[in-house]
Amino acid sequence: MTANADPDPVVALENVSFAYGEQLAVDDVSLTVEAGDFLGLIGPNGSGKTTLLRLMLGLLSPDSGSVELFGRPVDDFERGERIGYVSQQATSGGGTMPVTVRECVRMGRFAHVGHSRLTDEDRAIADEALETVGITDLADQQLNQLSGGQRQRAYIARALASEADLLALDEPTVGVDAESRDAFYQLLESLNRDGITIILIEHDIGVVTDRADRIACINTELYHHGDTESFVESDALREAYGATGTVVHHHH
Ligand code: ADP
Repeated sequence: MTANADPDPVVALENVSFAYGEQLAVDDVSLTVEAGDFLGLIGPNGSGKTTLLRLMLGLLSPDSGSVELFGRPVDDFERGERIGYVSQQATSGGGTMPVTVRECVRMGRFAHVGHSRLTDEDRAIADEALETVGITDLADQQLNQLSGGQRQRAYIARALASEADLLALDEPTVGVDAESRDAFYQLLESLNRDGITIILIEHDIGVVTDRADRIACINTELYHHGDTESFVESDALREAYGATGTVVHHHH
């Protein structure tokens, strides 16, 4: 874990619940993500992972409970401020804009500088982000012509160019071949070592227990939140996955 000057948690959820109509998706979840964490968010299909992530980022408003980012109410944040979000749609290429990779990454810089003109330095920072994720050679290609793995890197470069402190990724390696996937997770680990906080939704539990230093395991309710070691030793996985489609009541 990297030392960070920011004393506030990156994300703090308190008693957060959310339902789609009658369908309860997140039930009374409280958790904090500290600066420098690499948090793996796991749970069965339909267990509320994407919903929880979107609540954390202020893309959904909770029915009850509170969400703070960097010590401030999430509603105070401009969309994208300090945060890079790679959604599932971005991964699959749906809705990909007709822009080059370099343009996409410069848009991240553009968001950071408050939509004033980019200086030469801003453009250099965007190019540096391309270099960091290893896709400088793809800079002039159309984003929508990249492979899934290459597109992931472009979106991460965009987040780096925007100087995001938090990178939130929703199953980023779906449709990415095994080799690129491994390289991609090495990139995430290296960014995390450089101080970027990471929240990763990933269905492959092995990947999460290998790479993440903390784990949140949910199935509507939170079954575990803590370090990876204590998760592996706990019954949370069996309980959360065994409870698919049923309601298990915990006595707190
Ligand atoms: P996960 O990411 O773990 O697969 P989701 O957060 O996508 O889970 O979904 C949690 C629950 O909420 C599921 O039962 C799902 O069917 C339901 N859900 C998700 N999105 C919507 C939506 N837009 N409208 C209605 N129900 C939804």
